[in-house]
Amino acid sequence: MTSFVVAVDGPAGSGKSSVSRASARALGFDYQDTGAAYRALAWSCLERGIDTSDAGAVIGAVSGFAYSIGIDPDDYYIRVDERDVTEAIREPRVTEVVSAVARIPEVRGYLVQLFRRVIAASDRPGIIVEGRDITTVVAPHAQVRILLTASEQVRMGRRSAELHGESAETTAKQLASRDAQDSRVVDFMNAADGVTTVDSTDLDFDQTVNAVVALVRSQQT
Ligand code: C5P
Repeated sequence: MTSFVVAVDGPAGSGKSSVSRASARALGFDYQDTGAAYRALAWSCLERGIDTSDAGAVIGAVSGFAYSIGIDPDDYYIRVDERDVTEAIREPRVTEVVSAVARIPEVRGYLVQLFRRVIAASDRPGIIVEGRDITTVVAPHAQVRILLTASEQVRMGRRSAELHGESAETTAKQLASRDAQDSRVVDFMNAADGVTTVDSTDLDFDQTVNAVVALVRSQQT
């Protein structure tokens, strides 16, 4: 069982997934992407024709949710019922409905337990866990707790560079609307007590990874 947990929260487009994964690789740690589980559940509902705005129906889908995640940063995958959905959960149709699924308290309660089991099962010297409520709910006692931010303009620019074919304006609107919906459920825009803010607005990717790795190393004994 791993003893060293690094919790990373932040809004969409802050770079938390790629930064967390690269930092885990540099440190020899595991890496857990929690947004992937909300996405996989949303994908599963769409596949099964479940109305994602019907909380009761979504809660019903949680019990049969056969989810698995690769936490080795060099072997990242997401599976539902043994089916590889690593790419499928990034589709816009999933992104559109994921916030509705994630705001259901029963869904959050179930997934928080699942995230903690994944943390407990890690056998590397540490694990970096990223999402929206990791520093506050999933792992509030993590040895290192980071809020990764960037200005809205920079986040939107990064996200539209990732999504080919979508106009910058559409991307900006979608990102802002998802953040607005998500931040009604958990506050990931302001650092909770004891959480270190890493603002990547003026940092490139490597500099951001270096900042996270340096923070972790400063806490390792
Ligand atoms: O990080 P990512 O953009 O993949 O997350 C997808 C969605 O999952 C978020 O928009 C949010 O609704 C939800 N989420 C959450 N809590 C987390 C991680 C993600 O509510 N810890």
